[in-house]
Amino acid sequence: MALMDTEYVGDDLVKTLFTHDEIQAKVEEMARRIEKDYEGEDLLIVGVLRGAVMIMADLARALNRHVEMDWMAVSSYGSGTKSSGVVRILKDLDTDVTGKHVLVVDEIIDSGLTLTWLTSNLTSRGPASIEIATLLRKPEAVSMPVEVKYVGWDIPDEFVVGYGLDFNEKYRNLRDISALAPHIYS
Ligand code: 5GP
Ligand code: MG
Ligand code: MG
Repeated sequence: MALMDTEYVGDDLVKTLFTHDEIQAKVEEMARRIEKDYEGEDLLIVGVLRGAVMIMADLARALNRHVEMDWMAVSSYGSGTKSSGVVRILKDLDTDVTGKHVLVVDEIIDSGLTLTWLTSNLTSRGPASIEIATLLRKPEAVSMPVEVKYVGWDIPDEFVVGYGLDFNEKYRNLRDISALAPHIYS
């Protein structure tokens, strides 16, 4: 995406990690794996609001098969740029996941606390299977107790925005994923 399309962000961003086109190619790649792994099975993808809106929209359209879509909203209490692991459900699924193959879709995993909590919560409802897909994963999440089956990219520990990722509710609508300039969050 040409820089002039995002002129309004001024000097808030320091560098682009992944462009719109690179993200689309990666999502297609993830979709091919998911199609293969769930061949012959019903599939419910669960997006974690609000950050996963973009990847859910792109992944669902990249999947060349029927797929059911539902959403959860959780708040992991924490301030600034870190989550705390104390999770509260703000919006639960509308779907009963009992006996279903569930794939939780998120845009980024940092500490992994949110998704560790969420998968254990969903597991207690008796799905046929539960797996996680994330576009981005930070180093800390590599040691989380729950295995993440689909990872787009492993990234260094820096704060990124765009493609659903916000800082104080800004930058979610950017097409690219970029690192936020430290002067914005420090
Ligand atoms: P975790 O529980 O894995 O530490 O936190 C996951 C959530 O924290 C993500 O879904 C996202 O909302 C937020 N988060 C973690 N790292 C980043 C980041 O680099 N940029 C943005 N915008 N949000 C992040
Ligand atoms: Mg998220
Ligand atoms: Mg956020």
